[in-house]
Amino acid sequence: MANQQDYQGQTQWFEGDWKCKDCGQAITKLPFKPDENRLGELRCRDCHSKNRPPARGGFRGGR
Ligand SMILES: [Zn+2]
Repeated sequence: MANQQDYQGQTQWFEGDWKCKDCGQAITKLPFKPDENRLGELRCRDCHSKNRPPARGGFRGGR
């Protein structure tokens, strides 16, 4: 078995002092370990979900 992380149903949060590259909001917690080389590319949760490409189709009132 691969070594299991502390994934006992809980997200592991990494605390730090970062900044969202989009809105400039401070980010103090991340659900993943940020890559040191990409600290300038971090985004807060808001921007992160905003940046997600919308699902194709969407709810366009059906047929
Ligand atoms: Zn943001």
